[in-house]
Amino acid sequence: MKHYPPEVPSTYEYPRENLASFLLHSAEAYPDRPALWFFGYKMTYRELLDACCRFANAMRAIPLNKGDRLAIMLPNCPQAVIAYYGALLAGLTVVQHNPMYTPRELKHQLEDCGARVLVTLDELWPRVEAVEGELPVEHYVVTSIRDYLPPVKSLLYPLQQSRQGGVPKVPYGTRVLAWKHCLANASAELPKVEVDPMEDIALIQYTGGTTGVPKGAMLTHYNLVANAIQSALWTYKLQRGKERYLAVLPFFHVFGMTVLMNQSMYTGGMLILVPRFQAEQVLKLIHEFKPTVFPGTPTMYIALMNHPDRPRYDLSSIEVCVSGAAPLPHEVQAQWEKLTGGKLVEGYGLTEASPITHANNFWAERKPGSIGIPFPDTDAQVVDPDGNPLPVGEIGELAVRGPQVMKGYWNRPDETASVLRNGWLFTGDLAKMDEDGYFYIVDRKKDIIIAGGYNIYPREVEEVLYEHPAVAEAAVVGVEDPYRGQTVKAFIQLKPGMQVTEQELDEWCRANLAAYKVPRAYEFRDSLPKSAVGKILRRALTEEATRQA
Ligand code: AMP
Repeated sequence: MKHYPPEVPSTYEYPRENLASFLLHSAEAYPDRPALWFFGYKMTYRELLDACCRFANAMRAIPLNKGDRLAIMLPNCPQAVIAYYGALLAGLTVVQHNPMYTPRELKHQLEDCGARVLVTLDELWPRVEAVEGELPVEHYVVTSIRDYLPPVKSLLYPLQQSRQGGVPKVPYGTRVLAWKHCLANASAELPKVEVDPMEDIALIQYTGGTTGVPKGAMLTHYNLVANAIQSALWTYKLQRGKERYLAVLPFFHVFGMTVLMNQSMYTGGMLILVPRFQAEQVLKLIHEFKPTVFPGTPTMYIALMNHPDRPRYDLSSIEVCVSGAAPLPHEVQAQWEKLTGGKLVEGYGLTEASPITHANNFWAERKPGSIGIPFPDTDAQVVDPDGNPLPVGEIGELAVRGPQVMKGYWNRPDETASVLRNGWLFTGDLAKMDEDGYFYIVDRKKDIIIAGGYNIYPREVEEVLYEHPAVAEAAVVGVEDPYRGQTVKAFIQLKPGMQVTEQELDEWCRANLAAYKVPRAYEFRDSLPKSAVGKILRRALTEEATRQA
């Protein structure tokens, strides 16, 4: 039933090797090609391999041993790639941390995974210092943006701490090591560490903040190799050694890690590193450096399109965009494609699947509103609460299986058993499949609103709101109601310079939705709360709405 273009194989032999072999192969094929670009600083594949080997040997000298956890808390910058691939070369397990974490969140994850080393930035040090005495971490490797940029360029770097009061003082010594020092004193030989790609964990990735307490998904080398290759097979028109990837999605999130960092290493691409999404800066970068591949989230594309200065910038270099992490409204897709002339397709995935399992075709048949069809070697089905497959068109839980599906959750056998059953990963998302085998996400199981006995899917209401010409972003949540159990509330961010009243939105919704789905309350906001990758945090809005009620 899968409608693949002839260029995309439905099955593939994924190499059983260390994920870092991507870097070894590209360094051999394209030694002098820039692998990284960071505000004017370029690092070739040869230089990147040299730096990764040095980092790996420095970690082995500590000594860190195969399977030890190395935590990284960095925004997108050269060190984020070096530490990640260097750790893999040393046979370590990487654990990613969001630089926006509060000390409390950081402590939870570091304790949970038992990291022995944390690599971070001097500008983030105060957050680490606040909990340092309580952490299992034995050594810190601290780097600075200035390690790869001349001082004058560092002004471009927008982390708040650097603007206010300069760079914090870091107590360098035997416990807190300086990045530059570590690399300069280590050997550049390729470390000889064997990994078992099917069993050894390359990455423990904590699942996003839109669900409950973070759990660490264990992703093997094979899982990550497979998903980067599946994604590259899907975008089959991309040329090896030629593409430029605009790396705005953070590498500490699994989506950016796979579709940017790992896929670029696999295809010998150049990563244009952007530490934080700022619409104007991203527009400038596209105009000047002409990236060809730009994966993102719906909110990023929306912010770029609605920027008042957007007409001044040429966006026509962009050929391939995959939108993930959240539903892509049809309007946004159509407008973006018209603007750039490139393709923007919706994909779907979750941390537990490295992450991508579905996508629409880029250059063949696509269905708006659908997440597309399963990737090569990936099976998907819609099941009832007992796990039995449902007929075409019926709504149930989406279950997937394939080479990208995780080994389980770190130290949580019960949670693992509840989501991995008979070789299938139960995603917690409600979906349906059409007669052509295309899948549609209806909503997250947890987000359904039940009002007066009716099931309401927030996403459906949001789609209608997005179609209103004044609406830039919309999030719909359920709030408690003494009579109906729950009612629908919409949070709205308007496009710049646009105005609309609650009454007008109400009429719009009434014209397009059954009465029971129409929001009973609207709240206008300057911006909506988002996760690190730009996913609107419905849960935060629900909590706020509940507090207000
Ligand atoms: P995370 O593990 O943090 O990447 O979040 C995964 C979740 O994001 C999935 O379980 C879905 O609920 C949501 N998600 C990802 N892609 C899409 C999409 N294209 N449409 C709707 N929801 C999505």
